[in-house]
Amino acid sequence: MQSFDILIKNGTILTMDPSDSIINNGLIGINGEQISFIGEEKGNPINAEFVIDAKNGIILPGLVNGHTHAAMTLFRGLADDLPLMEWLNNYIFPAESRIDSYFVHTGTSLACAEMILSGTTTFCDMYLFEEAAAQACKEAGMRSLIGEVLYDFNSPNYGSIDNGFIYTESLIEKWCGDPLVSIAIEPHSLFTCSPDLLKTAGKLSIKYKVPLITHLSETEDELRFVEKTYGKRPVHHLNSLGILGPNLITCHCVHVSSDEIKMLKEKNVKIIHNPESNMKLASGIAPVQEMISSGITVGIGTDGCASNNDLDLFTEMGTAAKLHKVKEMDPTVMDAKTVLRMATINGAKALGMDKITGSIEIGKKADIIVVDTNKPHLTPIYNPYSHLVYSARGSDVVHSIINGRLVMSQRELLTIDVKDVIKKAEGIAKRIMSERKV
Ligand SMILES: [Zn+2]
Repeated sequence: MQSFDILIKNGTILTMDPSDSIINNGLIGINGEQISFIGEEKGNPINAEFVIDAKNGIILPGLVNGHTHAAMTLFRGLADDLPLMEWLNNYIFPAESRIDSYFVHTGTSLACAEMILSGTTTFCDMYLFEEAAAQACKEAGMRSLIGEVLYDFNSPNYGSIDNGFIYTESLIEKWCGDPLVSIAIEPHSLFTCSPDLLKTAGKLSIKYKVPLITHLSETEDELRFVEKTYGKRPVHHLNSLGILGPNLITCHCVHVSSDEIKMLKEKNVKIIHNPESNMKLASGIAPVQEMISSGITVGIGTDGCASNNDLDLFTEMGTAAKLHKVKEMDPTVMDAKTVLRMATINGAKALGMDKITGSIEIGKKADIIVVDTNKPHLTPIYNPYSHLVYSARGSDVVHSIINGRLVMSQRELLTIDVKDVIKKAEGIAKRIMSERKV
């Protein structure tokens, strides 16, 4: 008789494996951290310590949020309807100059709660006081790739940039080998980082074999600044610094030319698409169809909560699919399966995690969610991919398993005290309002 720690049964499994296998009335067996069985229910005797009944719902890999600033949940709605530079310089940067570890721990815990509740099991974070973010992820049981944001002006966490690199190296050493938390090197952008900073970041990424992550060509202002300052377009500027490579993950890439896309592909650079943030800040529409057609690995991210204003990847997927159809004036582009792949296996590939997560395959870590489809807005089901991208919402996810551990059961979070986190977040919001100068 087969024995499992956790058995998931009675659902349609979208594996997102290389063959896009779908298993109706499927079974998944989990032992320890790993998926050890995938198959059809055939009435064979099975012994399981814990059984999850998917009730004819959809079972799929947990979603991968390729780019966010988790603790910015605490700035949700603080300043909206503004251009990026005004939003950053007049509201976000001044508010961020007063944050601390407690703020980041609370904001990241709040983000983890929101992400688990909406089906995300892995996310990539860029922010300040990231030791506190890493701790919050570990406590929440979420898989994460985390990096301290690096720039040339003084940080409220590490002070000058020299200390920023020392802090990042200490994070790498501390979290090395952790089953959930990995560390990346994360220079903020080409308009806040000098060529020297970017080159040092690139060398550290190679030295420690960890990803290098930056915002790239998010706005036209940024493009103009880079062209005026360095006499080159942003991708060419990065190329001249010698840091375009498979370890580089670039977020946004709204204003990239065909020539730059070709270069990103040649160097095997990864891209994270952030459609809702790009729409809300009126940054533009990234040429994602061209990126995908050229063979670049593209994942999807929500960006921070202050520019979205939520972390729900289901709504992000729907937006991405529809935005590019209207951009290209072609309803066949960015089909549902392509978009779901961006939020699962291709997101994992972009983050360098596709060997462990992003699909349901034997031997991979068990990062799995169950969507309840017994609802009016999810009835009937003809195509599960379409359902997930065009009809489902994050709140339809009922169970979540990360690294073999049940972190949400029947929409109840098992690793986070939500009431406590909300109370702390409200306390911080009161402080932010009392300190507000603009
Ligand atoms: Zn961002």
